[in-house]
Amino acid sequence: MRLKALREEVLEANLELVRRGLVLYTFGNVSGIDRDEGLVAIKPSGVPYEALTPEQIVISDLEGTIVDGTLRPSSDLATHLELYKHFPTIGGVAHTHSEFATAWAQAETPIPCYGTTHADSFHGAIPVTERLTASEIAGDYERETGVAIRRTFSKIDPDAIPAVLVAGHAPFCWGPSAAEAAHNAVILEYVARMACHTLTINAESRPLARELHDKHFLRKHGRNAYYGQVKTQ
Ligand SMILES: [Zn+2]
Repeated sequence: MRLKALREEVLEANLELVRRGLVLYTFGNVSGIDRDEGLVAIKPSGVPYEALTPEQIVISDLEGTIVDGTLRPSSDLATHLELYKHFPTIGGVAHTHSEFATAWAQAETPIPCYGTTHADSFHGAIPVTERLTASEIAGDYERETGVAIRRTFSKIDPDAIPAVLVAGHAPFCWGPSAAEAAHNAVILEYVARMACHTLTINAESRPLARELHDKHFLRKHGRNAYYGQVKTQ
């Protein structure tokens, strides 16, 4: 029963990327994890979003063995698994090739925080990975992509900056659930677009002051958050 709910949430999170204009054709994939069972639900590879059903969502263990589902999982499964193994608090991962975030990834340039919209969701610039080496590309490429991401976060809290730009590729985002990972992917695309516009208007634009950045992130996240309504559970 729990797997059924996870499959439905993962399907819904994948469809959210389509509704928000973040994916073309079959690009992109969202997964979610059941930490108690150690099982990951992920979009199948190459199935059009409009045809997706909950039963087609593939269930894998953390080693990549398919335990339920008849279709092949997204080819990026190994990247997702690497993130679940090394970022123990995350519950969902979203990968897109959304236009502006991907442009920053191709430029291999971190997205500076130019305003409170960015600071509300990301406590710092969105980092870029190192390029993968030729042997990493020739080897277990998708897992190595995950390794490059976690290397980028060796000194960054993945809960504070739930997104990364993979150099020459595209963004990966995560969050406490599949739905929140997809939400972060949507916000990332929005701040990536606005950062681009900001630099077009003024190429000398300065990042937000640290005090204002901290204020906006910390009023929404962490122990002293006070934004929104009090949660009843
Ligand atoms: Zn990709």
